[in-house]
This record gives sequence, C-alpha cells and structure tokens, in this order.
Amino acid sequence: MAQSPNNKSDELVFLALGGLGEIGMNVYLYGIGPAQSRQWLMVDLGITFPGPTEPGVDVVLPDLRFIAAEKGALAGLVVTHAHEDHIGAIIELWPQLQVPVYATPFTMGMLKAKLSEFGGRLKPDLHEIPLGGRFNVGAFDVEFISMTHSIPETSGLAIRTPNGNIFHSSDWKIDPEPVIGKPIDQEKLKALGREGVDVIVCDSTNVLRDGVSPSETDVANSLTEIIKKAPHRVAVTTFASNLGRVLAVARAAHAAGRHLVVAGRSLHRVIDVGIDTGYLPPDFKYLDQEEFGYLERGEIVVLLTGSQGEPRAALSRAADGEHPDIKFSKGDLVIYSSRNIPGNEKAIGRVQNSLARMGCEILTDSEDLVHVTGHPRRGELRQMYEWIQPKALIPMHGEARHLRAHAKFASECGIKNVLVPEDGAIVRLAPGKPTIVDDAPVGRLYRDGRLIVPGDEGPVRERRKLSAVGIAVASFTMTPRGELISDVLAILDGIPAKTRDGDSMEDVVLDAVESTIESIPKARRKNLDLVRDAVYRAVRAAINEEWGKKPIVKIMVHVVE
Ligand SMILES: [Zn+2]
Ligand SMILES: [Zn+2]
Repeated sequence: MAQSPNNKSDELVFLALGGLGEIGMNVYLYGIGPAQSRQWLMVDLGITFPGPTEPGVDVVLPDLRFIAAEKGALAGLVVTHAHEDHIGAIIELWPQLQVPVYATPFTMGMLKAKLSEFGGRLKPDLHEIPLGGRFNVGAFDVEFISMTHSIPETSGLAIRTPNGNIFHSSDWKIDPEPVIGKPIDQEKLKALGREGVDVIVCDSTNVLRDGVSPSETDVANSLTEIIKKAPHRVAVTTFASNLGRVLAVARAAHAAGRHLVVAGRSLHRVIDVGIDTGYLPPDFKYLDQEEFGYLERGEIVVLLTGSQGEPRAALSRAADGEHPDIKFSKGDLVIYSSRNIPGNEKAIGRVQNSLARMGCEILTDSEDLVHVTGHPRRGELRQMYEWIQPKALIPMHGEARHLRAHAKFASECGIKNVLVPEDGAIVRLAPGKPTIVDDAPVGRLYRDGRLIVPGDEGPVRERRKLSAVGIAVASFTMTPRGELISDVLAILDGIPAKTRDGDSMEDVVLDAVESTIESIPKARRKNLDLVRDAVYRAVRAAINEEWGKKPIVKIMVHVVE
C-alpha cells in the first residue's frame, strides 16, 4: 500500500459481471497486477430469474466472455454460499472456465447434489474448505469468515493481497440466535478490522430498512405458537434452501404433536445434504407425501415447495387440486414462511386465490412473524462498519436504488471513500481511493429450453416483439421476369382478425400485397429484392393504418420459371 499510485503493477481491481444493479446473478472478480497481465479471483457464479420482458426464458445466466477470454488468468472460483443467485450458474458455465472451485462442506454438498441430478457428466475441480478456513488461490490469500444468513455456512471473504486487503461480505445479517449453525464470527471480523481493511464490498439488499432484523429463532417460536393453535391441516411453504426454517417447522410440528410431511424435490435435496453435513440429526424424521392421505387433518404439518407460485411446485399443484397426494379443504391453514420476490406477485396471487376458493386460511409475513429476511438492515450495517473499520466501501447485491442508498448511508456513517460502480466497471481499489479505470463487456445469457442463447441479440428479442404485436406472413410466386403467377397467401397470428369497419385483416394484407406489386413498373419488378421490400413496407403500413400497431412482417417470394 506504500507504493505510488502510478505503479500499475501494484494495482488491485474489482469488477462485477453481475450483481450490481440487480438482486441476483452475482459474479464478482478481483484482479491483481498490471492491466495486460492480471491474475483474477472469481467470487460466486449465480443466476437470476427472468423478468416480464423476457418471455419464455427459464433462467438468466451471466455472460462470462470477458474472463473466458483471459485464458489462464483466472486462478479460481470461491463460493460464499449455496443460494441460486450465487451458485446457480456454476454447472452450466464452469466448462468455459475450468478452474478450481472452493467452498465449505454444506455449500459443496448442495453443489454436488445438483451435479448428480445433472447426470454426473460434469466433473469440476472441487476443493472443500472447512468453515473459517484460510487458503491460497493463486496470489490471493482467502479466508472464510462465518456469517449468518438464510442458509447454513454463508461465508464472508477476507481477501488479502500484496496490494491491499478486502472484505467481501457476501449475503449476511447479524442473527444472534440462528436455528442452525453458529452466530456471526464477530471476533474474527473485529480482528480483521484491527489488521486493516482497505475496502469492504457489502450487501445492500435491505439498506432501505431501519433497525435490525428479527432472528430465525423468533420466527421458529412464532411458527410453533401458530401451528399449536391450528385446528386442521397446516401447510408451510418456504425457500427450500433455508435449512434452519425446515428444522424450525419440523420442531414446531413435533411440539404440536403432529407429523411432518415433506413434498418437493428441492426440499428432499436440502434435507439430505443437511443430514450428510450434520446440521440435521441422522434420524431426522419426516413422512413422504404418499402418507398424507392416511393422516387425520389435525395430525399434519406439510412442508412444501412453491412459495413463489412456481406452477409445477407442490403447493401450486395442490392448490389446483392436481397433486396426486396432497389435498386441502375448508379450514386448513397455509403459511407462507417466505417473502414475495419482486416479479412473482401475480403467480403467487394466482395460487393464493385458488387456496382461498377452497376455503383455506392463508397466513403471510405481512400478518404475522412467519418469515425473516437474511440481509442486513441499517442497524446491522452500522455494526459491521464498526467491526471492520473499512477505509472504503463498494455496495453490491442490490438494484440501483439500493446501491445508491447504501452509498449515502455508508458516507453518513463516516466511511470516507464510497463508490457505486455498475456491472462491467473495472474499479481500481488500490493504490489510492477506489476509481473506475476501465470497463469490461457484460450481459445476460438465457437458458431457453435445452439451449443457452444470447440475451441481447438472441431469439428472445423477437419473441418480446411477438408477444406484443403478433406476426403477419405473406407469400407469393413470381417468374424471374417479375410476373405474379400465384395467389397471394397470408397468415396472421396474434393480430386482430377484423378492422374497425368489420373487414377482414387478412384481406387488408392481400390487397396491400397485390396493389403494391401492380404499382411497381414491369421493368423494375425483375428486381425481386425491391419487390419484397416494397411489399414488406406496404403490409406493415396497411396493418398499422387499421390497427394502430406495427406487427412483425415476413414476406416470402418464391421464384418459378
Ligand atoms: Zn444473494
Ligand atoms: Zn443468499
């Protein structure tokens, strides 16, 4: 840190390929050395879910072309925890990287469970690191620091380099009483603060909220009281990865003298990994969904997937009366031990309406303490700054409004140097204060059925247009001399069938095609490209004239002697 700011070989840089400006798709890179020959460390490789302008997309993945092009420069991938927005893209994108992957046992267990469901074909180079372990990845000295969050073993990273020390917070909250695992490792965080932290890169998700968040244990107690009082069946849906919540529901069922029934593949996966890694007792007891039908209504707590309205999840199928085993009836209680992830409100509402029509009672976190966040509110952020004493802060894991608010709050708390970069900005963290020095290509890829397709230039662009305006296709046959020798055929999809005057929209298209061809002088009709372009413009204009919207138009000109 003593060198002059001009000595580029001592640079320590930071770059996000996802995660700045969105809650999801976290991929962060730290680089050391001169711009032409940096060594990089990747932290997390996650996915996000498609928004309303991404029709038909299953999952959104980060575009790694920047780091994939730096062949040999990436030393490794360190994974902070097993949430999908941090590990979800590893299986699909690791083949582009081929680097060692480091994670703690539970995170690694979740990754391995997903790998085996993937068919076991992919064999990444996996390195399991004990909780709180310290290890080298190339020139980076990395130490896991145990945090509390909504999944076991979430680890912040102390990243020590010859050019400066970073604390990468990962996702965290300060939970004094987690249901599973130890409280946040305060002592190690304070020691790191005394050693000196040049920059903290910190979770921004809950910066808009004051105070501190309740503990997982508060939620566990509240769930127990609610379940004890319920007269009939109780269903609880939650994020499957929240193993502490799974255990809390199991204990609450036990306390109420009920059986726990579990439905949904991702819940079975997390329970298996929880038993393997010792977070759940080896004799953790639950019944499979087939046994649901044999139990009295007052004997059941069923834990099931589907808190986000996912149409194929157990809760959605039960709400539609289409689940083979799980049925609800009037007076049953359905607890949403979860929050609505923005964008999922409609899907969740649809399921809740179906449950309401059946006469089920629905309880959400707006009525009672049945869920708690895994991210720090302002009081917790302030506490972290006091422990870590960072010289500079970069907000991460947030939409633009969260990042900006976090920057403002950190400045108010006395952190001198605060910078808000976006995805793709290459930030020099040291020497000197954080400064944007360059940019890298970033973007989104889509998992679209069995394929991975580009985001910006791929098929979803056209699909988005189709979803708004439909398509008109016109086809006809001409000779090379420009004579029309067939009828014109037209197909209209997703376009109103009749004009305001009640005429057929198809006739509007056919008239436009025929009159346009006729209007072109015979000599010029030999130029079939010219004919096609003129017809294209005429069809678009004719539909726009009647409808007020321009559809997608395709013109097919066949040529026959
Ligand atoms: Zn996250
Ligand atoms: Zn998380």
